[in-house]
Amino acid sequence: PHGRVYNFSAGPAILPVDVLERAQADLINWQGSGMSIMEMSHRGKEFESVIQKAEADLRQLLNIPKNYKVLFLQGGASTQFSMIPLNLTKQGDVVDYVITGAWSKKAKEEADKYCKVNVAAKGDNKSVPAPSTWKLSPDSKYVHYCDNETIGGVEFKSTPDVGDRVLISDMSSNFISKPIDVAKYGIIYAGAQKNVGPAGVTIVIVRDDLIGHCRPEAPVMLDYKIHVDNDSMYNTPPCWSIYICGLVFEKLLKAGGLTAMQKLNEQKAQILYDAIASSNGFYNSPVDPAVKSLMNVPFTIPSSADLEKAFIKEAEKAGMLQLKGHRSVGGMRASIYNAMPLEGVQKLATFMKEFQAKNQ
Ligand code: PMP
Repeated sequence: PHGRVYNFSAGPAILPVDVLERAQADLINWQGSGMSIMEMSHRGKEFESVIQKAEADLRQLLNIPKNYKVLFLQGGASTQFSMIPLNLTKQGDVVDYVITGAWSKKAKEEADKYCKVNVAAKGDNKSVPAPSTWKLSPDSKYVHYCDNETIGGVEFKSTPDVGDRVLISDMSSNFISKPIDVAKYGIIYAGAQKNVGPAGVTIVIVRDDLIGHCRPEAPVMLDYKIHVDNDSMYNTPPCWSIYICGLVFEKLLKAGGLTAMQKLNEQKAQILYDAIASSNGFYNSPVDPAVKSLMNVPFTIPSSADLEKAFIKEAEKAGMLQLKGHRSVGGMRASIYNAMPLEGVQKLATFMKEFQAKNQ
């Protein structure tokens, strides 16, 4: 319906059709208010109810303990790369970063500006060094890692054990794709535009004791405490994006929560990894099988770059878009976030088999 395609974009990414339909219905006149969410004051009771429900539903979905605050911020996940060291360290402090791909590397490079970064472990963009081998510094203020590297398709399968250190995770591309134990983390953050909602809002879950220590010279917008004290409304929040995220949270709760999502996501990813594994080498997944992402599935056709180009073009004709790999690595990448239906993945797997049969 609606002439929609299967959109495998890594982000901004596919959203559930029923959420878009609901937003469409609400667009001109939200719940009898006579205006859309985009047009109303963020200080009014209408928007207040939207952001409060979004937070309450997210807390329920992730079972977020009471001693954590939930923030809806701007500036993308990239702003968290600076906000984290500015709030958790003083100049000269040591922090640990684990590098498993392009995004954790970027986070580390930003932290370099503010404190002494120890690279506790560095992967090869295809695998995750075993947490038992990480060389954590004895006095580090926190340990930062990326739970799912969107470009490489490398995903942690469990929370790394860092003892009593403060663990911080960039979950931009696998946030709310599966249940996680929030209590094991100091901070979890995620740009919304992949697995949650539209671009423009970044969700930050931060433990109480980490709030209130921002460097005085930091911009006011980068102080967690300012946003906590003002319920994410120190300044004008990204109202529309928060509203859509709220619709997604509500939908996921009704659909059985994150345990149900994980099951479906595992099923979807398995279909694609099976299609690659059963191709007798026609397709290749560069990723260590132990850490293959459920969200972003990169693959190549090792025999020919021209065939890769043809694959992307023909898939597009068949209604499967945005399958081109990240410009830094080439090949293909299928991003199959929560909102990608099972049928989309099945269609891609069938297409892969047919393309191979024609071109081998
Ligand atoms: N971290 C990860 C894992 C990402 O995938 C991205 C976006 N591709 C970012 C951080 C940066 O996010 P943003 O564009 O919201 O700053």
